[in-house]
Order: sequence, then structure tokens, then C-alpha cells
Amino acid sequence: MKYSHKQLIFAKYLMERIGFKDEDKILDYLEHLELLYGKWVDYTNHGDWNFTVSDCIQMLLDEVKIKSEKKSIEKKSIEKKDLKNHTYTATDLSNFVFCPISYVIQKSFKITNPSGQEYTETGRQLHEQLRLINKKIPVGVHEKDTMTHEVYNDEIIRKIRKSEIIFCGHGSENIYFSNPEEKYSGQPDYIFKDDEGTYFVVEEKFIYINSERKRDFHLNHLAQLYSYIKYINQYKIKYGYLIYWYYNFPNNHLPMVMSVKIRKTEENIRSSDFLDQVFIDLKKLDDGDNEIFDVNTLNMKKCAGCVVNKYCNHKTGVYNDYTLPYNTNYIQLHYPKFPEELKKNR
Ligand code: SF4
Repeated sequence: MKYSHKQLIFAKYLMERIGFKDEDKILDYLEHLELLYGKWVDYTNHGDWNFTVSDCIQMLLDEVKIKSEKKSIEKKSIEKKDLKNHTYTATDLSNFVFCPISYVIQKSFKITNPSGQEYTETGRQLHEQLRLINKKIPVGVHEKDTMTHEVYNDEIIRKIRKSEIIFCGHGSENIYFSNPEEKYSGQPDYIFKDDEGTYFVVEEKFIYINSERKRDFHLNHLAQLYSYIKYINQYKIKYGYLIYWYYNFPNNHLPMVMSVKIRKTEENIRSSDFLDQVFIDLKKLDDGDNEIFDVNTLNMKKCAGCVVNKYCNHKTGVYNDYTLPYNTNYIQLHYPKFPEELKKNR
């Protein structure tokens, strides 16, 4: 880890403030914060690059601040009668599969200090610039400058591009496909028709290649894709592609897709049963049930990258249940002794 001795002591102290008790878990979380938010900075602008974890420490300080002012966390109104009748979006399913606590927190609070906002924003811009079709490439830049030769010539990408576009999401009109019977709505990135006349759906994600060099396909992204295949009934969608575009800034300014990873999926009994179970769990939450949170599923890598981690106390592993809305009694600060070694610097 690249935390200095004193930074590490301070970071550990802040994590104990948040409620972490387990040393291994603390180190694991800090290590993943560093991987995600540590960065090289040229403080002098003269090529004098230094690695800094100050953003990681700042995140912990922000979390302590949010929790010390928990009465200021703005709550979203969740009326029980709305919950009974509302539809679940593909994003709801994805959030819940990613982590039920994340889903509950996002439904309960206005998130004014999300983590990783800069990555979300970069991802959104890249979606506009580098997307499969209808790219908004800056003037003077050729499409081939936005991706490597291998990516440009990837067989599946070429096949998708040659297919007939039926629907393109994220356009000026915010169109959602709804399935009232299933209480579902969703907006895929694209729907295409292949040369055999079969409809298929595509969901794409942009991933900064330096943050995680290799990634398995995330279950929540697959759940999102399955849901389009299973529940969109305006088209008979037979299969779908999940595309991970790995980008970097090789020329220091323009983003470029360096590699691509693609997973093809069709509806099958396992994915269908899986989605049915997600719906059952979501509905139980809406009914006000107290759900069990399995602390053994906690994964510090996931928690470090979680957009609502500053609002969550479940990552400490102390709580094993949850409800909707997220109970603010979970949001507690603790009072460990301030480290002697840091006292003289106060
Ligand atoms: S920080 Fe971890 S436990 Fe908390 S919501 Fe995020 S992923 Fe879930």
C-alpha cells in the first residue's frame, strides 16, 4: 500500500470511527480505495510525479462528516401505497443484485455525495463519444482514433454494427419499455435485428482499464441484460450481448477503447428463475419485511467501489438485517481513542 505511515494510522482511525473493527477488513478496504482513487499527480507541473492517496483519506473524512450530520441526510418519500403499485426498472434490479443495501440506500436518501462521481461522468461522456452507433466524435477525430485496430475489427462488434438498428437508448427522447403485468420497465442501450430477422439487445459498459485490468462480467449487469430479454414484450428478443469497453487515455487527452470483452446470453431457466427470485425479494422489501443481510457476502473490493458507500454502515459487517427505507439508526459513529502518534500534528 502507498499510504504513508501516518496516513495509514489516520485512515485506520477514521475507519474505526465509521465502525470497522476487523483489522484485515480495514486494510482490505483501504487497499481497494487506493486502487480506485489513488493517483499520480505532477504537483510542480515539471514532470515530478508523485502518487497520492489523499482522495481516499478525503472520502473517509467525508463519510465521517455525513454520518456526524445524519439528520441532514435528505430522505426520499416512500409511500407504502406507491410501493405496492410501482414498477421496478432494470436499474432497480441491477442495483439490488449488486447489493441489496445499495438499492435500499438509493431508494431512501438523496445521495448528495456519491463516490466515484468522476468515473460516472467520464463513463457517461464516453457513452456519447464511443458508443456502438450514433457516436458523437469530436470534430477532426476519425472513428478509428477512438479504438484500437483489434477492437474496431472485432468479429462480434462488426456483426452487431451490420445489424439493423431498431432502438437506441439514451437519445433525446427518454423512452422506456414497460411491461405492466410484470411491473417492469427498462431502457436498453440498443435493440437490433440480425440478418436472420431475430431481435437482440445490447448493453454496454465503459471501464477504465487502469482501475481493474481484468474483470469478470458482473452479475448485476447480466441481470439487467436478462431482464430486457425476459420482460420487454414489444419485440420478441431472443438474445443479448453485454459489452465491456476498456478505455484509457493513451495520448493523454482523448479516450480510446483499448480492448473489448463481450458476453452473449439467451434466456434460460436459470436466468429466468434468478430474476423471479429478485422480484420476490424486492416485493418482500416493499411489504416492509425485515430482510436478512448475509455478512459473509461482504466484499471490500465491491464496497470500496460502491457509489453509496459513504452512507452505508453495513459494510462494517456489524448488521445482519435491513429494511426499506434504510433505518438511520444503522448510521452510527464510534469514538476510538485518537492515535497518540498523530496528536502533536493536531
Ligand atoms: S458499501 Fe458495500 S455493503 Fe454498503 S451498500 Fe455498498 S456494496 Fe453494499
